[in-house]
Amino acid sequence: NTFAEIDLGEVLNLNIQRCKYVKPTPVQRNAIPILAAGRDLMACAQTGSGKTAAFCFPIISGIMKDQHIERPRGVRGVYPLAVILSPTRELACQIHDEARKFSYQTGVKVVVAYGGTPVNQQIRELERGVDILVATPGRLNDLLERGRVSLQMVKFLALDEADRMLDMGFEPQIRKIVQQMDMPPPGVRQTMLFSATFPREIQRLASDFLSNYIFLAV
Ligand code: AMP
Repeated sequence: NTFAEIDLGEVLNLNIQRCKYVKPTPVQRNAIPILAAGRDLMACAQTGSGKTAAFCFPIISGIMKDQHIERPRGVRGVYPLAVILSPTRELACQIHDEARKFSYQTGVKVVVAYGGTPVNQQIRELERGVDILVATPGRLNDLLERGRVSLQMVKFLALDEADRMLDMGFEPQIRKIVQQMDMPPPGVRQTMLFSATFPREIQRLASDFLSNYIFLAV
């Protein structure tokens, strides 16, 4: 039960050591191998369970393998390879902070975008390059409508605290966002949904967005 056994590679293992994580939490121990194998995942995870690392490490590791892929520039904004959706600005910032530590010296660039602040500053930040975009659903839709972000290259989608996003009324925005990922050419998107509770609406979201997924309750 060590991170070395999970085998995330040398750079990520160093970053895990820098974070002073000694052993994986249950959700990390179970989710990381499933995600590393490329499967979609719906996971039951409370705040404090270590879920952020559970979805960030496989995403970063996947992007490190894809970094050679040529991305279009400018035509329809920037092209992130991964999107992490979060219900609030606070949570988005926490995920961004953690993801940045985890991606230290990997070349993977993480940017956060949330509402309630001037959008132009975030656009400038995005234009400097983004691999992983952490965003609240409202602001990401705004950026999509402005033509500043394209989701055509997105290979990894994580929905964090999905039940809270639905409680806050974000379902229409989330559906619009995911629709843009489904544009041709047909994607090979890997989707991960984390939620503390599993009401009918979450199950419906999972069956609409995830394919052949594994359900993890730890
Ligand atoms: P999260 O549930 O992702 O919000 O994480 C809760 C807190 O636990 C954060 O402060 C993490 O940095 C920390 N954490 C996550 N995974 C580990 C781990 N394997 N060992 C020690 N601390 C961890």
